Amino acid sequence: MMKRIKRKVVVIGGGPAGLAAAISAKKAGCDDVLLIERARILGGILNQCIHDGFGLHRFKEALSGPEYAQRFIDEFRSLDIDVMTETIVLTMDRRRVLQVSSKAGLLEIQAGAVVLAMGCRERTAGAISLPGTRPAGVYTAGFAQNVMNLENMMVGKRAVVLGSGDIGLIMARRLTLEGAKVLAVFEILPYSSGLPRNIQQCLNDYDIPLFLSTTVIKIHGEHRIDGVTVAQVDDRMQPIQGTERYLDCDTLLLSVGLIPENELSQEAGVRLNPLTNGAFVDDTLMTSVPGVFACGNVLHVHDLVDHVSAEADSAGKNAADYVQKGKNDPKIRIPVTPGEGIRYTLPQTISGKRDVTLSFRVEEPARNRRVMVCDGDRVVKRKKVIRLHPAEMVQIPLKKDILKDVRSLKVYVE
Ligand SMILES: Cc1cc2nc3c(=O)[nH]c(=O)nc-3n(C[C@H](O)[C@H](O)[C@H](O)COP(=O)(O)OP(=O)(O)OC[C@H]3O[C@@H](n4cnc5c(N)ncnc54)[C@H](O)[C@@H]3O)c2cc1C
Repeated sequence: MMKRIKRKVVVIGGGPAGLAAAISAKKAGCDDVLLIERARILGGILNQCIHDGFGLHRFKEALSGPEYAQRFIDEFRSLDIDVMTETIVLTMDRRRVLQVSSKAGLLEIQAGAVVLAMGCRERTAGAISLPGTRPAGVYTAGFAQNVMNLENMMVGKRAVVLGSGDIGLIMARRLTLEGAKVLAVFEILPYSSGLPRNIQQCLNDYDIPLFLSTTVIKIHGEHRIDGVTVAQVDDRMQPIQGTERYLDCDTLLLSVGLIPENELSQEAGVRLNPLTNGAFVDDTLMTSVPGVFACGNVLHVHDLVDHVSAEADSAGKNAADYVQKGKNDPKIRIPVTPGEGIRYTLPQTISGKRDVTLSFRVEEPARNRRVMVCDGDRVVKRKKVIRLHPAEMVQIPLKKDILKDVRSLKVYVE
């Protein structure tokens, strides 16, 4: 018979989001916090990110991924929080009942509150319908990073990178440092999808060219990839005839986007936002299912781990408050929506009764603009920004005093 237990706060995922959420729930006074992680070790994706650049906001230091994770793991351990590693949450329902496969067998957990912190996964060649054969040598950039940094294996000698997301840029530099030739990075959009600092530090510093408005239109090779054909694209992203060229390579890395891992959330009936592929949340980071909170990359894809940790601090505390102080289902839900030039905003509703930080991304790069937060014609907040880029999440903190009597908020760029 399956063992059944009750726990107050259950955190799913032991990456930076899950670790910070569990720590914060415990610090908020919850004496019964359980973190579940399917991998053998805690730290999530950070374990394979051996480059530095983590923690600049939180610790004012440039740490490597494992160093950043270790700070949280140490605090987590010092607080004596319960953890189950090599354990996977298989299902979750609306009543927060989790079916779990652990080292000791199957388990059913009734959780008082749940924090979703399952991270995200990479889009693959299938997801972007790449034409051509399916030879060996085509990897997602994160998989190549895992193989090189954790398994100490080289993936190839002459590489092309498709997509200018941060993982692809970091891997272009990593391959170069390990002695491979990276021929170029190709990006279908007219601007890079990665952070400007990564363009400089990973491509420009190593003379790796970046071609915008260009994509791979064919993969060549039988057993192993032996080349790709690339072409420029027009403003409808269709290949322009006559611009095709062939590149001789043995490796193609794909860095074409990340998808939040929301299968469990969907099963529990959590309403998802098609703009983020993550949950709709209120200003406590609670989803549409009472008592289920979300943070980190499963909520929306982050560029900086520091923002992941800050968001998870809040989700963990709110989950602890939910079980300790009773339901915090807000009576008032003021909608926050993206306007001109904004791709998405988060949270999607606020109560107006608490301070809140709005997070959002813009649709395209721009300089010297103002970001406006308005209730109809009334300007609630404006922020001058020198540089806006879709790769960089922007945040605007709003104090509850200025949210008095607000009926709706729209965020736009002018
Ligand atoms: C290649 C790469 C380079 C990056 N570089 C930087 C950088 O230089 N600076 C920076 O600030 N940020 C960087 N980031 C971003 C940052 O690392 C991420 O935003 C952050 O790690 C996301 O944290 P997370 O906890 O949400 O997800 P993850 O770290 O992905 O953790 C999610 C965890 O949930 C577990 N899990 C999932 N489903 C289940 C389940 N059903 N049951 C149990 N466990 C489950 C997974 O095993 C995983 O451990 C980088 C990210 C990548 C991928």
